[in-house]
Amino acid sequence: MSNRFQTKQIQDLDAQHHLHPFSDHQSLRAGQNVRVIVKGEGPYVIDSEGHRILDGMAGLWTTNIGYGNKELAQAAYDQMVELPFYNTFFKTTHPPVVALSRKLAEIAPAHINQVFFGSSGSESNDTAIRLIRHYWALKGEPKRRIIISRKNAYHGSTIAAGSMGGMSHVHQHSYPVYEGFRHVMDPYWYGDSFPGETPEAFGLRAARAIDEEILRCGPENVAAFAGEPVQGAGGVKIAPSTYWPEVQRIVDKYGILLLADEVITGFGRVGTWFASEFYGIRPNLITFAKAATSGYIPLSGVLVDDKIVEALMSTDDDFNHGYTFSGHPVACAVALKNLEIMERDRLVPKVKETTGPALAKLFARFKDHPLVGEVRTVGMLGAIELVADKKTRKRFDDPGRVGLICRDHFFREGFIMRAVYDTMVCAPPLTWTDAQFEEAGAVIQKALDQTLADVS
Ligand code: PLP
Repeated sequence: MSNRFQTKQIQDLDAQHHLHPFSDHQSLRAGQNVRVIVKGEGPYVIDSEGHRILDGMAGLWTTNIGYGNKELAQAAYDQMVELPFYNTFFKTTHPPVVALSRKLAEIAPAHINQVFFGSSGSESNDTAIRLIRHYWALKGEPKRRIIISRKNAYHGSTIAAGSMGGMSHVHQHSYPVYEGFRHVMDPYWYGDSFPGETPEAFGLRAARAIDEEILRCGPENVAAFAGEPVQGAGGVKIAPSTYWPEVQRIVDKYGILLLADEVITGFGRVGTWFASEFYGIRPNLITFAKAATSGYIPLSGVLVDDKIVEALMSTDDDFNHGYTFSGHPVACAVALKNLEIMERDRLVPKVKETTGPALAKLFARFKDHPLVGEVRTVGMLGAIELVADKKTRKRFDDPGRVGLICRDHFFREGFIMRAVYDTMVCAPPLTWTDAQFEEAGAVIQKALDQTLADVS
């Protein structure tokens, strides 16, 4: 069977039987062929036609150590043979979940020592929402239910996590959005600052929108503020330096809880194990998923601080919440091995020392391109904003069209970046070397030039 035949067959079966996440099912069914990925090798994925594509998105902000790591495969195999599954309900435990919990407590901020596991980022945020509301009930303040988050935030796709997120196209299908969430402006200086407003002044204004919302809701009704340290799916929006210290000041002033959604930023993405450390904040809860196992197997969780754990310990009532796969032994064994490899290969400090600066240097090369309004990076996260008019920051009339054109050029040239409307975003594996930065640079130049020619 030729590759092409196999590809067509897979695409047809896919169209007939597979409902994709976040996709337009009409065009998928109409035969707008999907690309079939069959293999991963280090920083590359390989499609069914044999193309090697440099993956600038680490799968989906996930494969921090790259593809095809046999040590992780061996860890999964060994654990499957030893104990493939047992639950952690009803006062049972097993060695991998204990070892991983201990390891996570070691790399988490000092005031955090406990972890509740799940399988997806959405689940971890649902758990966090329940923990936040349960905490306030235990403290005798059950009226505190409102969680303030940001517009354009992505916290997952379950009804609660989707409602905590601030994406209108996600809310659109919740019929209606779950109650108790409010959304304030996100700290997006390039898009939302006033003419002449410095990033620092803008950062303070964006943080103070939280204070204003707390007062509107009545502080006695507010339970928590939730935010991604760097807004990922919303377009790699990197807050100005003044933002997070002011957010911390505001949550402290009102005594509300702080939830850091580190599903993208956790596990070294910005050069510290957790971005909370990078931004100097003290969250009461940190949600994580994706890169905990470098995506080799699903595992997520909520890191819970001592203050919340103390409240949980103040009663002998059950916390009636859990997932069959909370603390799955195989997932825990893979996560442990993944963290061991990251430590051994110094992948996290390298984001500060070499890979992060290399990404910043790479993107800076394109800041003068006629199509580029702004480039921004932090650690191994980056964005290139495409605009109709560089001087006035004017957007394209049909948001997302040019981003898709550009994304398709990237793909054709053998490089994956994701389009968030007209912002091209990038989150490569932390293992990139000079060779990959060079390869990406050549493709970005070509793809931007081709996109410019298409839209001029
Ligand atoms: N939180 C953030 C910041 C995310 O980026 C995502 C997914 O991209 C989620 C939560 C949801 O994670 P999952 O898709 O594993 O449910």
